[in-house]
Amino acid sequence: MRWVKDNIDKVKANVTARAVAVDVDTAVSLYDAYLALVTATDDARRQRNLVASRMKIEAAKMTPDVRAEVIAQGKALKASVTSLESRLAQAESAFVAEAAKLPNRTHPDVPLGAEDAATTLRTVGAPRDFPADGMAPRSHVDIGADLDLFDFEAAARVAGNKFYYLKNAGALLEIALINWSMTFVAGRGFTPMTAPDLAREDVVAGCGFAPRGEASQVYRLEESDLCLVGTAEIPLGGMYAGQVLTSKQLPMRLAAFSHCFRREVGSAGTATRGLYRVHQFSKVELFVIARPEDSEAIHKELLGLEEAMFTALGLCYRVLDMPSGDLGNPAYRKFDIEAWMPGRGIGGGWGEISSASNCTDFQARRLGIRYREESSDDEAAAGSRDASVGGKGATRYAHTLNATACAVPRIDCRHFWKTTSKPTEA
Ligand code: AMP
Repeated sequence: MRWVKDNIDKVKANVTARAVAVDVDTAVSLYDAYLALVTATDDARRQRNLVASRMKIEAAKMTPDVRAEVIAQGKALKASVTSLESRLAQAESAFVAEAAKLPNRTHPDVPLGAEDAATTLRTVGAPRDFPADGMAPRSHVDIGADLDLFDFEAAARVAGNKFYYLKNAGALLEIALINWSMTFVAGRGFTPMTAPDLAREDVVAGCGFAPRGEASQVYRLEESDLCLVGTAEIPLGGMYAGQVLTSKQLPMRLAAFSHCFRREVGSAGTATRGLYRVHQFSKVELFVIARPEDSEAIHKELLGLEEAMFTALGLCYRVLDMPSGDLGNPAYRKFDIEAWMPGRGIGGGWGEISSASNCTDFQARRLGIRYREESSDDEAAAGSRDASVGGKGATRYAHTLNATACAVPRIDCRHFWKTTSKPTEA
């Protein structure tokens, strides 16, 4: 908040570029009100303690009148501390509620604007040519119906719209994709994991997702402080919340399978047929905790890994540097990958299959993920320890990054384009 106050014009420009609904002036004045109450509460506590120790040391020497006066003073101070503490707690939650809406800073190369301002960095492969003999690409929904791969009607009866059962090769393909992508990333140094599908509200908020409110994409469980996770980024971020790691543990590369649950508020009317946009799906997510100086290189490494996987799957895709208005709150920079989906819309279309974000210290500050620089003995002996870290024992916030390894239904959408003449290929 000190940085926000000192750079208020930059912060306001960033908020405008990212189209975030937060009032920076309100956040700052709530912060000032909170700080004033911290000082007042500390003063009142100090005075209360002085009076208490005076009573302890001098009570025996006091005249009854003085004693009564000091006791009354002590009582008044105690009441004042109690009242200040409750005002302080209210001021703190009001300040935190507004300040938590402030977005991360933005990488200088990020294009400014809404979703259509994305920069296409490269396109890899070419949309497949369909033979001129009349074979046309079809929607995965129609192909799935022919091959008995899904049941949307039964799922709607059981759980509502945008749920599905996978059947036959559809169910086997989901398991195969999860197994294949986990094995792939484990071979690139990521620890393969499964993660809880539920997380506490404070962990969800610490990762930068709003667990409450009409527009929240998060399902909350009544009568508990738990939410269904929208991505394994949440349980992976929460795993090291409140911990101090050592630089030798970094970068920590984790990959987790989880189910993902999304309310998809506001997505009605978008191209959502079939599996494309659903309330529950399976995903393998990559999560890295890194030293700040390494995060930009690791961001590119994550993008490279996603591209290696999509190339191995034979997809035609394009890489987008996402614009300021589409970053959400936590990301400093975000690369999305869109695949060419021949059966999407009329004549095919691009559809997002992955997203890789560098969240710098945004999540680490909220979750309290720190690390301590630890030089190897050789470096320490040579006096080459990084002075910017602040000396031995000082801690810094880490950077966190996340990237989609395999969001199963979108890959399914891309793959189920074949005709029914060769069902085994589907
Ligand atoms: P995100 O965590 O929002 O960046 O999403 C990661 C990936 O999950 C996206 O690139 C999509 O491939 C996939 N995805 C996101 N939302 C949905 C959804 N509602 N249904 C199916 N797949 C989704």
